[in-house]
Amino acid sequence: MDVIEKIKNKEVFDLLIEANKITEKIHGKDVSLERALFLSWWCEKGDCKFCYMSSQKDRIQNPDKARRHVKGIYAEAELTKRMGWNIEFLSGGYGVYSTDEIREISENIYYITDKPVWLNIGITDELDAYGEEIIGVTGAVETANPKFHNEICPSKSITDIKNMLIQADNLGYKKAITIIIGLGEEIDHLNDLFNLIEELDIDRIIFYSLNPHPDTTYHLTPQPASLYYASIVASIRIRFPHIEIITGTWTDNLANIGVLLKAGSNGLTKFPLFKMYGNRFGKRVEEEVYWSNRNLIGSFSNMDLLTQGDNLRPELDPFIQRYIDMCYENLDIKKI
Ligand code: SF4
Repeated sequence: MDVIEKIKNKEVFDLLIEANKITEKIHGKDVSLERALFLSWWCEKGDCKFCYMSSQKDRIQNPDKARRHVKGIYAEAELTKRMGWNIEFLSGGYGVYSTDEIREISENIYYITDKPVWLNIGITDELDAYGEEIIGVTGAVETANPKFHNEICPSKSITDIKNMLIQADNLGYKKAITIIIGLGEEIDHLNDLFNLIEELDIDRIIFYSLNPHPDTTYHLTPQPASLYYASIVASIRIRFPHIEIITGTWTDNLANIGVLLKAGSNGLTKFPLFKMYGNRFGKRVEEEVYWSNRNLIGSFSNMDLLTQGDNLRPELDPFIQRYIDMCYENLDIKKI
Protein backbone atom coordinates (compact mmCIF):
# COMPACT_ATOMS: atom_id res chain seq x y z
CA MET A 1 0.00 0.00 0.00
CA ASP A 2 1.46 3.39 -0.84
CA VAL A 3 1.93 6.13 1.72
CA ILE A 4 -1.05 8.17 0.56
CA GLU A 5 -3.35 5.19 1.06
CA LYS A 6 -1.86 4.62 4.49
CA ILE A 7 -2.58 8.22 5.45
CA LYS A 8 -6.14 7.88 4.23
CA ASN A 9 -6.49 4.68 6.29
CA LYS A 10 -5.09 6.52 9.35
CA GLU A 11 -2.26 4.00 9.67
CA VAL A 12 -0.24 6.64 11.41
CA PHE A 13 1.86 4.40 13.66
CA ASP A 14 2.96 2.25 10.71
CA LEU A 15 4.08 5.39 8.93
CA LEU A 16 5.91 6.71 11.98
CA ILE A 17 7.72 3.44 12.64
CA GLU A 18 8.87 3.18 9.03
CA ALA A 19 9.87 6.85 8.85
CA ASN A 20 11.77 6.68 12.14
CA LYS A 21 13.77 3.66 11.00
CA ILE A 22 14.76 5.44 7.80
CA THR A 23 15.69 8.61 9.67
CA GLU A 24 17.91 6.85 12.19
CA LYS A 25 19.60 4.77 9.50
CA ILE A 26 20.31 7.61 7.08
CA HIS A 27 20.47 10.74 9.23
CA GLY A 28 21.31 9.44 12.71
CA LYS A 29 19.86 10.92 15.87
CA ASP A 30 20.88 14.58 15.64
CA VAL A 31 18.24 17.31 15.74
CA SER A 32 19.06 20.90 14.84
CA LEU A 33 17.45 24.08 16.12
CA GLU A 34 16.72 26.49 13.29
CA ARG A 35 16.17 30.24 13.45
CA ALA A 36 14.74 32.21 10.54
CA LEU A 37 16.24 35.68 10.41
CA PHE A 38 13.61 38.16 9.28
CA LEU A 39 14.71 41.24 7.40
CA SER A 40 11.38 43.04 7.44
CA TRP A 41 7.81 42.96 8.64
CA TRP A 42 6.20 43.99 5.40
CA CYS A 43 5.55 42.55 1.94
CA GLU A 44 4.32 44.33 -1.14
CA LYS A 45 2.29 41.30 -2.21
CA GLY A 46 0.54 40.91 1.10
CA ASP A 47 -2.26 38.74 -0.26
CA CYS A 48 -1.42 35.18 0.76
CA LYS A 49 -4.51 34.19 2.67
CA PHE A 50 -2.83 32.75 5.76
CA CYS A 51 -0.06 35.29 6.12
CA TYR A 52 0.42 37.73 8.98
CA MET A 53 1.68 40.25 6.40
CA SER A 54 -1.74 40.25 4.74
CA SER A 55 -3.22 41.65 7.95
CA GLN A 56 -0.75 44.56 8.09
CA LYS A 57 -2.49 46.86 5.62
CA ASP A 58 -1.56 50.01 7.55
CA ARG A 59 2.12 49.36 6.83
CA ILE A 60 1.65 49.10 3.10
CA GLN A 61 2.01 52.86 2.72
CA ASN A 62 5.38 52.88 4.42
CA PRO A 63 7.53 49.80 3.95
CA ASP A 64 10.62 51.58 5.29
CA LYS A 65 9.14 51.43 8.78
CA ALA A 66 9.02 47.65 8.54
CA ARG A 67 12.75 47.27 7.82
CA ARG A 68 14.75 45.88 10.67
CA HIS A 69 17.91 47.59 11.83
CA VAL A 70 20.66 45.47 10.28
CA LYS A 71 22.66 45.48 13.50
CA GLY A 72 19.70 43.75 15.18
CA ILE A 73 19.84 41.09 12.47
CA TYR A 74 23.58 40.60 12.93
CA ALA A 75 23.20 40.48 16.72
CA GLU A 76 20.66 37.71 16.32
CA ALA A 77 23.04 35.84 14.04
CA GLU A 78 25.82 36.13 16.62
CA LEU A 79 23.57 34.83 19.40
CA THR A 80 22.25 31.90 17.41
CA LYS A 81 25.86 30.92 16.76
CA ARG A 82 26.59 31.04 20.49
CA MET A 83 23.55 28.88 21.23
CA GLY A 84 24.59 26.32 18.60
CA TRP A 85 21.56 26.98 16.41
CA ASN A 86 21.46 27.10 12.61
CA ILE A 87 20.14 30.01 10.66
CA GLU A 88 17.21 28.47 8.81
CA PHE A 89 17.28 31.19 6.19
CA LEU A 90 17.32 34.90 5.65
CA SER A 91 13.76 35.91 5.03
CA GLY A 92 11.89 39.01 4.02
CA GLY A 93 8.75 40.13 2.30
CA TYR A 94 8.76 41.28 -1.29
CA GLY A 95 9.76 44.83 -2.20
CA VAL A 96 11.69 45.93 0.87
CA TYR A 97 15.38 45.26 0.19
CA SER A 98 17.35 45.41 -3.05
CA THR A 99 19.42 42.45 -4.19
CA ASP A 100 22.63 44.37 -3.34
CA GLU A 101 21.38 44.97 0.19
CA ILE A 102 20.44 41.31 0.71
CA ARG A 103 23.81 40.20 -0.64
CA GLU A 104 25.60 42.55 1.76
CA ILE A 105 23.56 41.27 4.73
CA SER A 106 24.23 37.67 3.66
CA GLU A 107 27.97 38.36 3.43
CA ASN A 108 27.98 39.83 6.92
CA ILE A 109 26.06 36.87 8.35
CA TYR A 110 28.47 34.48 6.64
CA TYR A 111 31.33 36.41 8.26
CA ILE A 112 29.69 36.28 11.71
CA THR A 113 28.58 32.64 11.70
CA ASP A 114 31.19 31.19 9.37
CA LYS A 115 28.39 29.38 7.57
CA PRO A 116 26.85 30.35 4.22
CA VAL A 117 23.15 31.21 4.50
CA TRP A 118 19.99 29.99 2.90
CA LEU A 119 17.80 32.62 1.27
CA ASN A 120 14.03 32.84 1.42
CA ILE A 121 13.49 36.24 -0.15
CA GLY A 122 10.66 35.64 -2.58
CA ILE A 123 10.81 35.03 -6.30
CA THR A 124 13.83 36.60 -7.90
CA ASP A 125 15.70 36.21 -11.19
CA GLU A 126 18.81 37.84 -9.76
CA LEU A 127 20.38 34.84 -8.05
CA ASP A 128 23.50 35.25 -10.15
CA ALA A 129 24.28 38.33 -8.04
CA TYR A 130 25.13 36.08 -5.08
CA GLY A 131 28.28 34.14 -4.37
CA GLU A 132 29.77 31.85 -1.75
CA GLU A 133 27.85 33.59 1.07
CA ILE A 134 24.78 31.63 -0.07
CA ILE A 135 24.35 27.89 0.28
CA GLY A 136 20.83 27.50 -1.01
CA VAL A 137 17.59 29.07 -2.13
CA THR A 138 14.16 28.48 -0.64
CA GLY A 139 10.96 28.62 -2.66
CA ALA A 140 7.98 29.52 -0.48
CA VAL A 141 5.59 27.11 -2.20
CA GLU A 142 3.25 26.82 0.83
CA THR A 143 0.93 24.33 -0.86
CA ALA A 144 1.80 22.17 -3.86
CA ASN A 145 -1.42 21.70 -5.80
CA PRO A 146 -1.31 24.45 -8.48
CA LYS A 147 -5.05 25.21 -8.46
CA PHE A 148 -5.27 25.38 -4.68
CA HIS A 149 -2.04 27.35 -4.58
CA ASN A 150 -3.53 30.01 -6.85
CA GLU A 151 -6.40 30.44 -4.40
CA ILE A 152 -4.16 30.72 -1.37
CA CYS A 153 -1.23 32.68 -2.84
CA PRO A 154 -2.62 34.52 -5.88
CA SER A 155 0.48 36.66 -6.47
CA LYS A 156 3.30 34.14 -6.44
CA SER A 157 2.93 31.41 -9.01
CA ILE A 158 4.40 27.96 -8.58
CA THR A 159 5.81 28.22 -12.10
CA ASP A 160 7.83 31.30 -11.15
CA ILE A 161 9.05 29.61 -7.96
CA LYS A 162 10.07 26.55 -9.99
CA ASN A 163 11.96 28.69 -12.48
CA MET A 164 13.84 30.37 -9.65
CA LEU A 165 14.80 27.00 -8.17
CA ILE A 166 15.94 25.76 -11.57
CA GLN A 167 18.15 28.84 -11.82
CA ALA A 168 19.43 28.11 -8.29
CA ASP A 169 20.31 24.59 -9.39
CA ASN A 170 22.12 25.86 -12.48
CA LEU A 171 24.19 28.15 -10.26
CA GLY A 172 25.12 25.25 -7.97
CA TYR A 173 22.96 26.20 -4.99
CA LYS A 174 20.89 23.80 -2.91
CA LYS A 175 17.12 24.02 -3.16
CA ALA A 176 14.45 24.08 -0.47
CA ILE A 177 10.70 24.58 -0.36
CA THR A 178 8.30 25.57 2.40
CA ILE A 179 4.94 23.87 2.90
CA ILE A 180 2.16 24.82 5.30
CA ILE A 181 -0.05 22.07 6.68
CA GLY A 182 -3.65 22.82 7.57
CA LEU A 183 -4.63 25.30 4.85
CA GLY A 184 -7.48 23.05 3.69
CA GLU A 185 -5.33 20.99 1.33
CA GLU A 186 -6.44 17.52 0.29
CA ILE A 187 -4.44 14.37 1.00
CA ASP A 188 -4.23 13.69 -2.74
CA HIS A 189 -2.36 16.97 -3.12
CA LEU A 190 0.58 15.01 -1.76
CA ASN A 191 1.02 13.66 -5.30
CA ASP A 192 1.74 17.24 -6.43
CA LEU A 193 4.23 17.64 -3.61
CA PHE A 194 6.00 14.38 -4.44
CA ASN A 195 6.19 15.41 -8.11
CA LEU A 196 7.56 18.83 -7.23
CA ILE A 197 10.29 17.39 -5.01
CA GLU A 198 11.25 14.88 -7.69
CA GLU A 199 11.15 17.36 -10.55
CA LEU A 200 13.30 19.96 -8.79
CA ASP A 201 15.48 17.50 -6.87
CA ILE A 202 14.71 19.34 -3.65
CA ASP A 203 17.34 19.04 -0.89
CA ARG A 204 15.33 20.39 2.01
CA ILE A 205 11.68 20.76 2.90
CA ILE A 206 10.42 23.00 5.67
CA PHE A 207 6.97 22.31 7.07
CA TYR A 208 4.90 24.69 9.11
CA SER A 209 1.50 24.15 10.63
CA LEU A 210 -1.18 26.73 10.08
CA ASN A 211 -1.10 29.52 12.64
CA PRO A 212 -4.54 31.13 12.34
CA HIS A 213 -3.65 34.83 12.54
CA PRO A 214 -6.34 37.29 13.54
CA ASP A 215 -7.59 39.36 10.57
CA THR A 216 -6.81 36.62 8.06
CA THR A 217 -9.41 34.32 6.50
CA TYR A 218 -8.08 31.50 8.68
CA HIS A 219 -8.67 33.24 12.00
CA LEU A 220 -11.30 30.68 13.08
CA THR A 221 -9.66 27.64 11.48
CA PRO A 222 -8.28 24.99 13.84
CA GLN A 223 -4.62 24.10 13.60
CA PRO A 224 -3.97 20.73 11.95
CA ALA A 225 -4.17 17.59 14.06
CA SER A 226 -0.77 16.46 15.32
CA LEU A 227 -1.05 12.98 13.79
CA TYR A 228 -2.21 14.35 10.43
CA TYR A 229 0.77 16.73 10.35
CA ALA A 230 3.09 13.88 11.36
CA SER A 231 1.63 11.57 8.69
CA ILE A 232 2.45 14.09 5.97
CA VAL A 233 6.00 14.49 7.26
CA ALA A 234 6.41 10.71 7.52
CA SER A 235 5.23 10.26 3.94
CA ILE A 236 8.00 12.60 2.75
CA ARG A 237 10.62 10.80 4.84
CA ILE A 238 9.52 7.44 3.39
CA ARG A 239 9.36 8.65 -0.22
CA PHE A 240 12.54 10.74 -0.01
CA PRO A 241 14.85 9.11 2.54
CA HIS A 242 17.74 11.53 2.01
CA ILE A 243 15.86 14.83 2.05
CA GLU A 244 16.42 17.17 4.99
CA ILE A 245 13.16 17.86 6.82
CA ILE A 246 12.64 20.84 9.09
CA THR A 247 9.37 21.11 11.00
CA GLY A 248 7.83 24.14 12.62
CA THR A 249 5.44 24.12 15.48
CA TRP A 250 3.92 26.90 17.59
CA THR A 251 4.32 27.44 21.30
CA ASP A 252 0.76 26.27 21.93
CA ASN A 253 1.61 22.98 20.20
CA LEU A 254 5.00 22.00 21.61
CA ALA A 255 3.69 18.47 22.20
CA ASN A 256 3.80 18.02 18.42
CA ILE A 257 7.58 17.98 18.49
CA GLY A 258 8.08 14.40 19.66
CA VAL A 259 5.80 12.94 17.05
CA LEU A 260 7.27 15.13 14.29
CA LEU A 261 10.73 13.84 15.18
CA LYS A 262 9.46 10.27 14.97
CA ALA A 263 7.99 11.19 11.58
CA GLY A 264 11.43 12.04 10.25
CA SER A 265 12.15 15.64 11.14
CA ASN A 266 15.84 16.62 11.22
CA GLY A 267 15.36 20.08 12.65
CA LEU A 268 12.92 22.27 14.58
CA THR A 269 11.87 25.81 13.85
CA LYS A 270 9.32 28.60 14.30
CA PHE A 271 10.06 29.47 17.89
CA PRO A 272 9.95 32.96 19.40
CA LEU A 273 13.52 32.34 20.50
CA PHE A 274 14.13 35.16 22.95
CA LYS A 275 10.81 34.59 24.70
CA MET A 276 11.58 30.91 25.19
CA TYR A 277 15.32 30.59 25.73
CA GLY A 278 16.24 29.35 29.19
CA ASN A 279 12.71 29.20 30.55
CA ARG A 280 10.24 26.36 30.86
CA PHE A 281 9.18 26.68 27.21
CA GLY A 282 12.70 26.28 25.86
CA LYS A 283 13.33 23.44 28.30
CA ARG A 284 10.11 21.81 27.11
CA VAL A 285 11.54 21.63 23.58
CA GLU A 286 14.64 19.93 25.01
CA GLU A 287 12.41 17.46 26.87
CA GLU A 288 10.53 16.64 23.66
CA VAL A 289 13.80 15.87 21.89
CA TYR A 290 15.06 13.81 24.84
CA TRP A 291 11.91 11.65 24.94
CA SER A 292 12.10 11.14 21.20
CA ASN A 293 15.46 9.47 21.85
CA ARG A 294 17.20 12.03 19.68
CA ASN A 295 20.24 14.20 20.24
CA LEU A 296 19.74 17.96 20.32
CA ILE A 297 22.49 20.01 18.68
CA GLY A 298 22.78 23.36 20.43
CA SER A 299 20.88 24.51 23.46
CA PHE A 300 17.52 26.04 24.35
CA SER A 301 18.44 26.61 27.99
CA ASN A 302 22.13 27.18 28.71
CA MET A 303 22.33 30.84 29.80
CA ASP A 304 26.14 30.74 29.97
CA LEU A 305 26.32 30.35 26.20
CA LEU A 306 24.76 33.78 25.68
CA THR A 307 27.91 35.60 26.76
CA GLN A 308 30.43 33.17 25.31
CA GLY A 309 32.08 33.54 21.93
CA ASP A 310 34.21 36.08 20.19
CA ASN A 311 32.12 38.88 18.88
CA LEU A 312 33.92 39.93 15.71
CA ARG A 313 31.82 43.10 15.52
CA PRO A 314 32.05 45.11 18.82
CA GLU A 315 29.53 47.66 17.49
CA LEU A 316 26.92 44.92 17.82
CA ASP A 317 27.40 44.60 21.59
CA PRO A 318 24.44 46.83 22.64
CA PHE A 319 22.15 44.94 20.24
CA ILE A 320 23.36 41.57 21.51
CA GLN A 321 22.89 42.71 25.11
CA ARG A 322 19.31 43.74 24.36
CA TYR A 323 18.48 40.18 23.28
CA ILE A 324 20.31 38.69 26.26
CA ASP A 325 18.31 40.98 28.58
CA MET A 326 15.13 39.80 26.90
CA CYS A 327 16.03 36.18 27.68
CA TYR A 328 16.63 37.00 31.35
CA GLU A 329 13.43 39.05 31.58
CA ASN A 330 11.46 36.07 30.28
CA LEU A 331 12.98 33.45 32.58
CA ASP A 332 9.79 33.23 34.66
CA ILE A 333 7.35 33.84 31.82
CA LYS A 334 4.12 31.89 32.32
CA LYS A 335 2.45 32.30 28.97
CA ILE A 336 3.67 33.10 25.46
S1 SF4 B 1 4.56 36.60 -0.38
FE1 SF4 B 1 5.23 35.73 1.59
S2 SF4 B 1 5.36 37.48 3.00
FE2 SF4 B 1 4.16 38.14 1.22
S3 SF4 B 1 2.02 37.80 1.80
FE3 SF4 B 1 2.72 35.94 0.74
S4 SF4 B 1 3.48 34.55 2.36
FE4 SF4 B 1 3.29 36.61 3.23
